[in-house]
Amino acid sequence: MKKCLFYLSVIVMALFMVVAPAFAKTYIVGTSADFPPFEYIEKGQIVGFDIDLIKAIAESQGIKVEFQDISFDSLIPGLNAGTIDIVASGMTITEERAKVVDFTEPYYSANQAVLVKEGGGKNVTVLFGDHKLAVQTGTTGDLWVEENLEKTGILKGKVTRFDTFVLAIQDLLNGNVDGVVLDTPVAQRYAAENPVVMVAEIITGEEYGFAVAKGNKELLEKLNKGLEEVKASGKMDELLKKYF
Ligand code: GLN
Repeated sequence: MKKCLFYLSVIVMALFMVVAPAFAKTYIVGTSADFPPFEYIEKGQIVGFDIDLIKAIAESQGIKVEFQDISFDSLIPGLNAGTIDIVASGMTITEERAKVVDFTEPYYSANQAVLVKEGGGKNVTVLFGDHKLAVQTGTTGDLWVEENLEKTGILKGKVTRFDTFVLAIQDLLNGNVDGVVLDTPVAQRYAAENPVVMVAEIITGEEYGFAVAKGNKELLEKLNKGLEEVKASGKMDELLKKYF
């Protein structure tokens, strides 16, 4: 009888292990897939460091994730409206943002950089005077340009704000703007793959975190726990090596 019960409980447990993942909640991850190597489109798929990292975290916590490509500026409103559950988009942890969303522990550090067109004879002076700049709307690069160059009057030319960095870089290549201000690791990647050069680094000491809706403690804890496990298992190092 005892043996019978034992076998029965083993069968029930095995069934549970097979069935439970099928019922695991699927979390929608919002990302602006124009930020290589963190998130970008390759052969029609959203790929990148953030994508692999969130997948590894999800696996370690037994949750499922699906990705949605959304403009950077719509990510926080999406979290607040409940149309997405997680932001994984190279998002810098800032005081302003932390008032409206909750961030995980930091997972990557960055600064701002200035990109100009290769062979165009421009340098860091594109930040001053009558030059034209492009940024991505709502990014820390956008805010830095506004606070330090526009409000101070150091820059007199126009600043064009794009929905995606892909469009900002395109405008730079077309010669419509003189420079683009964006995060250093992404500037380096664009410079490696396009005729653009990084002519300056602006030390802003930013740190990226994943974001969830304000007060979603359960999900935040899962992400933080997963992040720790991914670091401890060596998976984080593997991903850093793969993408940087
Ligand atoms: N790290 C920058 C920010 O948070 C840019 C992020 C991005 O464009 N994906 O604003």
